[in-house]
Amino acid sequence: MTHVVVAGAGLAGIACAHELGKKGVDVTLVDRNDYHQFQPLLYQVATSQLPAVDVARPLASIFRSLDSVRVIQAEITDLDFEARSLVAAGETITGDHLVVAAGATANFFGTPGAEEFSYPLYSVVDAEKLRHHVSDLLGGAHDPLDVVIVGGGPTGVETAGAFAELFRALRKMDHPGGRGEAWLINHGPDLLAPFSDKSHTYAHDKLVEHGAKVRLGVGVTSVDAEGVALSDGTRIASRTVIWAGGESASPIAATADTTPGRGGRIDVLADLTVANFDEVYAVGDVSNIPGADGKALPQLGSVAQQAGLWAAENILRTIKGKPKKPFAYRDKGIMAMIGRGAAVAEVGAHRHEVEGPLAFAAWLGVHAALLSGAHSKVDAFLSWAWDYFDSDHSAIVECHGDPKRIAWADDVKPTI
Ligand SMILES: Cc1cc2nc3c(=O)[nH]c(=O)nc-3n(C[C@H](O)[C@H](O)[C@H](O)COP(=O)(O)OP(=O)(O)OC[C@H]3O[C@@H](n4cnc5c(N)ncnc54)[C@H](O)[C@@H]3O)c2cc1C
Repeated sequence: MTHVVVAGAGLAGIACAHELGKKGVDVTLVDRNDYHQFQPLLYQVATSQLPAVDVARPLASIFRSLDSVRVIQAEITDLDFEARSLVAAGETITGDHLVVAAGATANFFGTPGAEEFSYPLYSVVDAEKLRHHVSDLLGGAHDPLDVVIVGGGPTGVETAGAFAELFRALRKMDHPGGRGEAWLINHGPDLLAPFSDKSHTYAHDKLVEHGAKVRLGVGVTSVDAEGVALSDGTRIASRTVIWAGGESASPIAATADTTPGRGGRIDVLADLTVANFDEVYAVGDVSNIPGADGKALPQLGSVAQQAGLWAAENILRTIKGKPKKPFAYRDKGIMAMIGRGAAVAEVGAHRHEVEGPLAFAAWLGVHAALLSGAHSKVDAFLSWAWDYFDSDHSAIVECHGDPKRIAWADDVKPTI
């Protein structure tokens, strides 16, 4: 009986294990958590728009009906491609195939103080830490209340939009926390760099309209307990610096027997296997996957989910004695939600540009498809998200720290 070991239960690992489990293949899925966390909704947790349990789903619930999938909660410390194995909690687990899907972590690019004093946003634990910190700060209303977000990619823009919204709502309520400002600092000249010029301008104007302070063309040169120093010689006083300034592969990628590629990621061939290791796959944010134009595909949920599924299909083909197929990415486009009523999307491979509610509908469609890998009922998410996008009411809810639930109706709760 074929045994597949999957390292990491993010969007890629879940898609792979689920597909193999449906076909009755023996799978051992290893993750440090006993739950799957949905990263695209982490900033909603950090800004108290969603409770943490709503973006984390127990792995036991996801795989309940798939008897051939065994889930192990343990820290992975080593990968051995030659042996198709990993080491987790001191135990070596070997498969006929190994799928590495361990995601990414923040890359501070050696910026002094960044690792020590800034908040990354990669896990539910990160988001909860940030939420508690912000709520303590705003509760005490001790200056400086300003929040600095480093990096103007989709994560930075969405997070800045959410914090600008929070401060605006606090001001409306005459809450002393309303003195705070949300700053977005971007080294490059444009926000949302991979998008079109029209989208750059739209994102900038909407953020400013929502109350964010945007600084373009300046880098953060250091972070300390009192704020950030910028490359133009100025400083912003802040105790809340959020790092959305770049990412690199999960450190376990470096334990493998290959030289890491760009971003510390594992380079893979078109069929998603690692060169010279026919039965070893790397998928999602931990990997550099070549696109049709030869350039690596972006670190996106859709890429991770589709690649995880594709790796499973190639393993199933190998089991049947058929050749593996090169990964064909179905590009759904790129999109970002900037705040209530404001979103931008460039839909499909041809990047058809839309803004406002139509862009939000596209964002929603893509997120619902991503969530459907872990949650069978995404209608609750759709109704929560429309309510958020459409109404000002939930802005007030945020300030009380009693957010509206998505209401997944799970009977098992993750142990966050
Ligand atoms: C804040 C934020 C917002 C985002 N928003 C969007 C968006 O709107 N749209 C979009 O398409 N993409 C978005 N992304 C990117 C998207 O979330 C990722 O591309 C996607 O989650 C990658 O999936 P993955 O399975 O490769 O990795 P992950 O989802 O990161 O999963 C990796 C898993 O491996 C586990 N793991 C890692 N190392 C170890 C170890 N040593 N031991 C045990 N377990 C380990 C982790 O616990 C985790 O469960 C966002 C990312 C972030 C951080």
